[in-house]
Amino acid sequence: MKPPPAPSAVTYSVTIDVGRCTNCGLCVAFCPVEVFEAQGAGPTPAASRPELCWGCETCVGQCPSGAVHVALNGGGDPFVNREKAAPLPEEERALYREWAGVLKEVLGLRWSPVAVSLIPAGDPLPDVPVPSERLRYCQSLMAARRGRSLMMPANRHACPDGTAILGLTDLPPKLASGELYKLFRKLDSVEAARTMVRERPHLEPRTIDATVVAPLAEAACTPQVVAVIAQPEQVMWLCMSAAYYTGHRFDFHASGYNAQCVETTLIPYTSGEPNISFGCYGCRASSDVSDDLMFMGIPASLMPTVVRGLRELGAKAIPQSRNKIYLPPLM
Ligand code: SF4
Ligand code: SF4
Repeated sequence: MKPPPAPSAVTYSVTIDVGRCTNCGLCVAFCPVEVFEAQGAGPTPAASRPELCWGCETCVGQCPSGAVHVALNGGGDPFVNREKAAPLPEEERALYREWAGVLKEVLGLRWSPVAVSLIPAGDPLPDVPVPSERLRYCQSLMAARRGRSLMMPANRHACPDGTAILGLTDLPPKLASGELYKLFRKLDSVEAARTMVRERPHLEPRTIDATVVAPLAEAACTPQVVAVIAQPEQVMWLCMSAAYYTGHRFDFHASGYNAQCVETTLIPYTSGEPNISFGCYGCRASSDVSDDLMFMGIPASLMPTVVRGLRELGAKAIPQSRNKIYLPPLM
């Protein structure tokens, strides 16, 4: 039996409406952290370990009868008495505002670029609000593109997969074994799922204390990655901006699995190279991102080059291309 979460964790009440339940067992099978157990001859599902619930709502989504209910109880401040980081100097804030302005203006981005920071274990914390609910990491990115700033320790994350990948927790056994990906029919076999898990990068467990996301123009701590949610044409110009002074071609790493945690964040974070992502099942199923958008993660160290290159491209190449200057006249 796993230990109960820290007192400051957000907790949930999990109930099953026995009048609706058909004892199909899907809630037991799909819960990634084993909140449910099958009891008796039925067998009948029981939410016997609600203190382990992450609020991911997988059980709610998978129950064919609408019998499972997950209700937020709330939680205290997980960072009481923790050392706070000094505010960013105005000069640095101004730089991030400038980057955001150039990206939005030259590309015509609808959504704010997002500053992403992974706070190493034990480091002082920026002055960023901790949400009162649990969110998936991809949901937090989508909220930040709309203007929200969020700092999320492990007990504010709702996706056990992304939380482990980003180094906040261990990967739960049902995910590590590949069993759950096969149940979701996201991969053909448990073996294929294990390969996917083995080949995807991840940080060591508990090396990161919190993820922080914010609109780039309002970043309260130094970002390691800038995430852009944009149309393919806009991402194309970002790629060209990154290569503008070198002609360098990029070996992008995209699979459709674990888009925002692995592809948009972790790969730029660890490699120092930009990366693109088409999104994944989880982020498309749990956020309002539209089907015509994709994602790019740019290491913050590369942003001065990208911004300079984008300004150059914006002077001629981008407007000419958008004006379709080589389009033959239509008969
Ligand atoms: S919300 Fe997620 S963690 Fe909680 S019981 Fe349902 S499947 Fe399990
Ligand atoms: S998934 Fe729904 S119907 Fe099936 S056992 Fe769980 S609560 Fe009952």
